Amino acid sequence: MRIEERLYTLRYKRDEQPHLMVKDQELCKRCNEEYGSPCIGVCPANVYSFVKDRLVVSYENCVECGACKIVCPFNNIIWKYPRYGLGIALRYG
Ligand code: SF4
Repeated sequence: MRIEERLYTLRYKRDEQPHLMVKDQELCKRCNEEYGSPCIGVCPANVYSFVKDRLVVSYENCVECGACKIVCPFNNIIWKYPRYGLGIALRYG
């Protein structure tokens, strides 16, 4: 099963309070120059993208794997689970 098909088996209850944020946009620019933004490469759900020199975080797509927090070389991601009952859930099962 391809990753896109697996992602389709999830549903998401949006938490209005973002559970992902970056601490410092300047560090994101530096990370992009020095390391090529590993968060963008590792995220299976395309949560991160650069738009006009800013790292945009589409947290509502997150599948809560935790990989981005681990690979960030500057520990620049604030990561917590969505509030109780919100976030991802399996659609089947
Ligand atoms: Fe992407 Fe996983 Fe980080 Fe969520 S926790 S933003 S799915 S890498």
